[in-house]
Amino acid sequence: MSLHRLRTLSTTRWSQLTSTVPKRHLTLPTSYKYDPSFVRLVDVSPRDGLQNERTPIPTPTKITLINKLTALNIPVIESTSFVSPKWVPQLSDAAAVMQGISKKEGTSYPVLTPNLKGLERALELGVEEVAVFPAVTEGFSKRNLNAGVEETLGRFGDVIAKALENGVRVRGYVSVVLGCPYEGDVSPSSVARVAERLFKMGCYEISLGDTIGTGTPNKMRELLKAVCQVVPVENLAVHCHDTYGQALGNIYEAINFGVRVVDSSVAGLGGCPYAKGATGNVATEDVLYLVHGMGLRTGVDLNEAVKVGNWISGELGRKNASRVANALTAKL
Ligand SMILES: [Zn+2]
Repeated sequence: MSLHRLRTLSTTRWSQLTSTVPKRHLTLPTSYKYDPSFVRLVDVSPRDGLQNERTPIPTPTKITLINKLTALNIPVIESTSFVSPKWVPQLSDAAAVMQGISKKEGTSYPVLTPNLKGLERALELGVEEVAVFPAVTEGFSKRNLNAGVEETLGRFGDVIAKALENGVRVRGYVSVVLGCPYEGDVSPSSVARVAERLFKMGCYEISLGDTIGTGTPNKMRELLKAVCQVVPVENLAVHCHDTYGQALGNIYEAINFGVRVVDSSVAGLGGCPYAKGATGNVATEDVLYLVHGMGLRTGVDLNEAVKVGNWISGELGRKNASRVANALTAKL
């Protein structure tokens, strides 16, 4: 199916969906407008990237990272998570981080909110965007969210409703969309069901997460075909982990399919808890090289991004996980 045909189809679906569920989505920032020539990057390094670090990272380092990403002109920076400090001690300074960063007009700083309590903490700090993150499989959901898929959708539904009531927009992540560490293969139709639920509950965007990085481009295409039946491609993002070296191939497939929002992490920060020693999130620097090579814009300068990636790698005492960053650094 051609891209044009797909876009026409998704626009039709969009109007069908919006007419059945009015007033669900808040007005979005102008930078969120779908533009075929522009890829909106969502840098998740301050939260997804740092969450699995074993040694505590000083709050000022986290704040500096977010400020540097802001200066890079990254439009969306996933900043922290208002999760219980008992679950994720590394992010127990969520409030201090949000109060310490220098926000720029036009840049979004979403935070994760696992429950109403987390949302309330975020609301007190004037957060403008939050994210919820159900999984597709029972196994992953129970291990990571302590409840089955249906129960977590109910819980997140309350979070979404309350956020929207307070004028806060909500992004929905769906985890393990191309493979589950406990259940193996995941069917595209089961992902589509969860994505549709989140979209109907009011998430303005659904980020499809290949949490363990086992997906391949063909699987990504099959997944997008299924999900686009229920959520317009304009409202989709991809969140690819590079554990098996497939992230850029999967992102390339998604962009060719019409997706224009890509999650990434500077320096590829973020270990995968299910595959020791493997890399986690796809590196922002690698995505920039790919996207610019496709003739699309991001508003972000690759060389400057490399500097930020090298800086945070130095702070963490490791090598930058981005191949592009290492290649460019070697030339300097
Ligand atoms: Zn991730």
